Amino acid sequence: MPDVAVVGSGPNGLAAAVTMARAGLKVHVYEAAPTPGGGLRTSELMEPGHLHDVCSAVHPMAIASPFFRQFELSRRIRLSVPDVSYGSPLDGGRAALAYRSLDRTAAGMGRDGGAYRRLMAPLVRHVDGITGLTLNQLLRVPRDPAAAAVFGLRTLEQGTRLWNARFREDLAPALLTGAAAHATAALPGLAAAGAGLMLGTLAHAGGWPIPQGGSAAISRALVADLEAHGGVVETGVRIGSLAELPPVRAALLDVAPPALLRLARGRFPARYRRALEAFRFGNAACKVDFILSGPVPWAAPGLADAGTVHVGGTRDEMAEAENLVAAGRHPERPYVLLSQPSRFDAGRAPDGRHILWSYCHVPSGSDVDMAEAVTAQLERFAPGFRDLVVRYQVTTAAGLAEYNENYVGGDYGAGLMDLRGLLRRPVLSPVPWRTPLPGVYLCSSSTPPGPGVTGMPGFHAATYALKDIFGLPVPGLGI
Ligand SMILES: Cc1cc2nc3c(=O)[nH]c(=O)nc-3n(C[C@H](O)[C@H](O)[C@H](O)COP(=O)(O)OP(=O)(O)OC[C@H]3O[C@@H](n4cnc5c(N)ncnc54)[C@H](O)[C@@H]3O)c2cc1C
Repeated sequence: MPDVAVVGSGPNGLAAAVTMARAGLKVHVYEAAPTPGGGLRTSELMEPGHLHDVCSAVHPMAIASPFFRQFELSRRIRLSVPDVSYGSPLDGGRAALAYRSLDRTAAGMGRDGGAYRRLMAPLVRHVDGITGLTLNQLLRVPRDPAAAAVFGLRTLEQGTRLWNARFREDLAPALLTGAAAHATAALPGLAAAGAGLMLGTLAHAGGWPIPQGGSAAISRALVADLEAHGGVVETGVRIGSLAELPPVRAALLDVAPPALLRLARGRFPARYRRALEAFRFGNAACKVDFILSGPVPWAAPGLADAGTVHVGGTRDEMAEAENLVAAGRHPERPYVLLSQPSRFDAGRAPDGRHILWSYCHVPSGSDVDMAEAVTAQLERFAPGFRDLVVRYQVTTAAGLAEYNENYVGGDYGAGLMDLRGLLRRPVLSPVPWRTPLPGVYLCSSSTPPGPGVTGMPGFHAATYALKDIFGLPVPGLGI
């Protein structure tokens, strides 16, 4: 009989499972899908030999995450770290490029080089403090007040209409907005600015790595470690109620709040139930995967070396696209996030072929196929792109929700990314991973610090379960 059941094998379920198993407990993971990994799956979506990431593809947060650092992820899998972490194309064959080197980045920013350096250099200097701050939960006294001050002031600037105050040209604003728009939120906004500055800091610190073999390399490493510590992952088992679990001492649930309610079957007190019912989801993604007969023919030099490209034009154009989505509409010229992993990992596609992973933001629940809008944006900045398309596959927001029930309405962030959504995740509490049922913990990205492959929601939930239920010392990560 296991001591611990984990429902769901996304990065957070697996991080929780690994943490519990390494503490000497018997752990059993139940996964509804036929393979483990949640947002960490890689698959031959269209043709043999072409390995597409089904969800996540690029992992700046995984290498920065205290959980994955302790797990020594970068020793267990091979990571390609492109020299250019990300870039944004602009009309006229120009591009803003975030090199890992801050100096080189600033040198490419024209008259705004000094302003960009003054914005980012203090953040890069305080990268550990900022990681500790953003990969935790907001409701606590920061361990590194200097990092919090540097980060807070810059978030206030970039999250409000002051965001252009220090810039005179369009390159630096486009670069910053490309990262901020990851939050799938109206722009400018504080939560989006915070996310963007954190991602920008990581771009100039450790870089934005791409796992060799695809994101599934990360879930395989987690599963291997779990099994080495006696844990088991059982796939193809969807848990519909807590009563279906064996009589374990702790259950950690890598699920979204509506599923948590269903699993508890009316056992939660009314106040907690109401909070879960009021949990707000954000907008969604429409994913377009391509097989290409060559690399994307970017008009701007340098973009070919970027691991991630934010396609949407200027800061104003990207903000307009994101604000349309926030208002429930589909932009004609969407903000597109893309990566071409076969540029950095030859094993991802046969010779002469490339794969392209892309998505754009759409309103929650959308069943609109955005392939043509995405293709047109690419053709705008990479003339001739259309001629390289061998095949493509679209997963609408509704399709994403069907693929993984944690992505409610296609919200792959598992909860709205605004300030309130970050504070009430899913409830306002110093320990939001605990539920009112003894031994039952929520460990998905609907808890702090939120979305992205960090393992931190799972790690936080597991540390409280270890302490509360088993009286075991919590593995310290110094955060
Ligand atoms: C298109 C897309 C692109 C993304 N790109 C990136 C990226 O490049 N970098 C990045 O860091 N993040 C990215 N993300 C986000 C990232 O994938 C998620 O934030 C992360 O996977 C969340 O982890 P999780 O463990 O909380 O949940 P998930 O990864 O969603 O895993 C939850 C698992 O639980 C299972 N489950 C749920 N309910 C039950 C049940 N009742 N019984 C059994 N099993 C159940 C599900 O089947 C699923 O496997 C992307 C997401 C998407 C969709």
